[in-house]
Amino acid sequence: MMLGRFTYSQEYIEHDYKEIAFPSNADGTPRMDPQCLHIWPRRWFMMMGLANQDGGFTGTLFMPHAATKDSPGFDTVQGESEVRKFFTQHFADALPLVPDLVEQYLRNPQSNLVIVRCAPWNHGGKVALIGDAAHAIIPFYGEGMNAGFEDCRVLNDLLNTHGDANWDEVLPLYAASRKPNGDAIAALSQRNFIEMRDLVADPTFILRKKIEGRLQQRHPDKWLPLYSQVKFSDIAYSEAWNEGLRHDRIMEQVLAMPGIEEKWESEEVEGMALGLLAI
Ligand SMILES: Cc1cc2nc3c(=O)[nH]c(=O)nc-3n(C[C@H](O)[C@H](O)[C@H](O)COP(=O)(O)OP(=O)(O)OC[C@H]3O[C@@H](n4cnc5c(N)ncnc54)[C@H](O)[C@@H]3O)c2cc1C
Repeated sequence: MMLGRFTYSQEYIEHDYKEIAFPSNADGTPRMDPQCLHIWPRRWFMMMGLANQDGGFTGTLFMPHAATKDSPGFDTVQGESEVRKFFTQHFADALPLVPDLVEQYLRNPQSNLVIVRCAPWNHGGKVALIGDAAHAIIPFYGEGMNAGFEDCRVLNDLLNTHGDANWDEVLPLYAASRKPNGDAIAALSQRNFIEMRDLVADPTFILRKKIEGRLQQRHPDKWLPLYSQVKFSDIAYSEAWNEGLRHDRIMEQVLAMPGIEEKWESEEVEGMALGLLAI
């Protein structure tokens, strides 16, 4: 490797975010199901709620920095009456859950979201980047911190294999093994943003999830949906990304079967999906 050549980019996405704290009930019980990730998909913007251990939720509103013809933006949703109108129009069911929602919106900071890509992640055997410094991603897979922990695990495994003092060998191997996975989780996170803010409200997407859920339940050894590969397995992000693309191609054909809405639970549909998987 030639030292001194460092490629770097930071890409701000159009959406910024703002956090809103959802309180628990007075007795500490949660106001929404704490076992679920709650999403208010609005196509061009969205709000989500993640359970905390104290019965409350961390809500996050993701919205364009600047309004477009399709979407309001943080630049236009300003001032008490405009903010109240916005939440009443788009998130009416959230208002009773968070009595001070408007006040929080006006008070809490608006933050931006950036994707950092760079290479190489190591400078010979002297220095290596780990975590967000190497691969800051947008937070729609909830994997940013986890990806950093995976960097640590891989580095630790390499040190165990090659010897604790052998940095000249270990750091290039670490960088070569993790960089494709950093790129993959960045791409996966961008893809999941579109799923969360738009597709979860789409009937074809919901049907696909039902078919995939059934396949996973009946053939866990053969069909692990992309989300489960990323969140609940040790499969590398880059492998999950490629397998996810293969699933996309298979499901496109499955969803094109005549009458799929009625027969999605049939042997025929299952056979088609598994047949395509075996090719
Ligand atoms: C809205 C949002 C939601 C998220 N949700 C999730 C989630 O659900 N699950 C998940 O896994 N991840 C999530 N993440 C991502 C996660 O927060 C980050 O991936 C993680 O914090 C990165 O950790 P890090 O240690 O690599 O970097 P950082 O947390 O950025 O830590 C770097 C530290 O270095 C310090 N520093 C910087 N420069 C210097 C300097 N020159 N000298 C000394 N110190 C310095 C900084 O102050 C900072 O404390 C989310 C991120 C966001 C923005």
